[in-house]
Amino acid sequence: MIDVYIGLGSNLDDPKQQVIRAVESLKMLPDTVWVAQSSWYKSEAIGPEQPNFINGVARIQTQLAPEILLDALQAIEQDHQRVRTQHWGPRTLDLDILLWGQEVLNSARLTVPHAFLKERCFVILPLLELAPSLMLPCGTALSSLTAQCGQQNIVKLNETT
Ligand code: AMP
Repeated sequence: MIDVYIGLGSNLDDPKQQVIRAVESLKMLPDTVWVAQSSWYKSEAIGPEQPNFINGVARIQTQLAPEILLDALQAIEQDHQRVRTQHWGPRTLDLDILLWGQEVLNSARLTVPHAFLKERCFVILPLLELAPSLMLPCGTALSSLTAQCGQQNIVKLNETT
């Protein structure tokens, strides 16, 4: 079993319900143990003018191979009828593999740790909730990345459901 963190995001069609439903789907993944989820966060969209996002992070332990988990996450995205119209455009559900234990993965389909992990506070803050002393494979402490988070307009929501 390996510890895997998954980023969840939505800014269309009742985003809160989208991410809550996605959690239910993650809990049903085969060969996988559900561990925990962060609080939900509201963040302003990057890119073209569009609604705010709801973001959060889930922690699982899995025996699946990375690309098999990616297939499963993409199937869940499809199930949410995500429409890929524009790069960085609005989406009903986005699921990203953020970390795969301490492994560094670079394939045609997967870059892990996720390419934007160190810059995006809507990922850093929820991840820190679940793993306050986490070290990234590059040796950077996750907690050292929060200095930039004052400028990014991210609001932690109180309710978890
Ligand atoms: P996005 O538009 O952010 O959903 O990007 C989807 C594409 O990113 C897919 O074609 C994946 O193969 C690729 N990708 C690369 N690295 C990752 C990752 N760590 N998690 C999820 N998708 C990834």
